[in-house]
Amino acid sequence: MKCHKCGNQLFVNDQYCSQCGERVKSNVSSLESTVIHDESQPQTSKGKSPILALILSALVVGLGQLYAGQGLKGIVLFGVWILATIATAGMATFVIWIINLIDAYRIAKKVNQGKHVDEWEFF
Ligand SMILES: [Zn+2]
Repeated sequence: MKCHKCGNQLFVNDQYCSQCGERVKSNVSSLESTVIHDESQPQTSKGKSPILALILSALVVGLGQLYAGQGLKGIVLFGVWILATIATAGMATFVIWIINLIDAYRIAKKVNQGKHVDEWEFF
C-alpha cells in the first residue's frame, strides 16, 4: 500500500502518511487506486527482458530469439550458425554470434514494448 499523494510506502493500519501527512482515506479506496495505478503502467507480465534475451543468445545462438517468441527463427538461426561454422572453418562463428546478440536484444525490446514482431523479423 502506498500514499496516493507522494507514493510513500505505508503500513496497512496507517491513518496518515508518515512522509507528507496526507490522510489515508480507507483501505478499500487505497486498494482501488492501487489497481487503477497498476493498469496505467505497461504490462510487465507479458514483457520480455532484452538483457535476458541477450544473455541467452550469448550462451546459445538463437536461444534469445526463442525466449522472445521467435521459436522457429531461433532454431534456424542455431542451425545456420552450426553450418556456417563448419562451412567457413569457424570464420563466420563470431560474426553470426554478434549479429544474433544484437538481434535477440532488439527483438526482445520490441516485444517488451508491446510491438508486433513477425516470426522472421530481424532487429
Ligand atoms: Zn504521502
